[in-house]
Amino acid sequence: MRIENETKKNQGVPTKSSDFMGHIPISEIFYSIQGEGKYAGHPSVFVRVGGCNLKCPGFGEKGCDSYYAVDKSYKSEWKLMNVEEIKSEVSKYLNKNTHLVITGGEPTLFYKQLYPLVEWFKGQITIETNTTVDINFEKYPAYKKAAFAMSVKLSNSGEEYTKRVKKGIIASYVKNAPKSFFKFVIDRDLNDEIKEITGETNAAVYCMPLGADREELEKNAPFVFGFCLKHGYCYSDRIHIRLFGKKKGV
Ligand code: SF4
Repeated sequence: MRIENETKKNQGVPTKSSDFMGHIPISEIFYSIQGEGKYAGHPSVFVRVGGCNLKCPGFGEKGCDSYYAVDKSYKSEWKLMNVEEIKSEVSKYLNKNTHLVITGGEPTLFYKQLYPLVEWFKGQITIETNTTVDINFEKYPAYKKAAFAMSVKLSNSGEEYTKRVKKGIIASYVKNAPKSFFKFVIDRDLNDEIKEITGETNAAVYCMPLGADREELEKNAPFVFGFCLKHGYCYSDRIHIRLFGKKKGV
């Protein structure tokens, strides 16, 4: 279900987080079931932030399933919202079991602006991130209660290693936010890379099949299932792709 909020569409979203004057570019807010990772199956309100610091040219539209929150040609569809407006939208869907998922794009680019939302929300929060933005956990301690779904990009993203893997930042997330976990989308044996990225931490590792639609997901799923068994990783399906394919807001 997609929530169309009342905030007027922004026609000129700036490009630097410092330009937003307390507002955050929001691609969409919707209520759905978390489709993947540690909290798959939980009813959740999703707040999708627009903009990303990576491009992942290796994925095209296949891997970056939120291209409409990354590609600048979609900027006119993003809405600038302040935290009170976001809280008001989120509030419409709360019950005692609802999780909050802050996703993107790359939501940590706006972690300072989003902080009042994280402080305010009382249930489980997941922040889906590429883990390249350093968060000051001492100054913004409410982030310690969140689970960061650390989707560190592998070589199949087409990004340079030094841009996509920041080991000091990964270590900081795991140490300060102990519910955090790794989440990798794969279609081939990339275990050397996964081990190199995750080996120095004790965070759980979830692997999911690459697939922009049900057909591709089902093609890759048996390999990922066996890969997880072999290496002792958690298998995660992608419920929303299995049920809805490329549809937005589900
Ligand atoms: S880091 Fe994630 S959101 Fe950003 S371009 Fe890559 S896949 Fe898309």
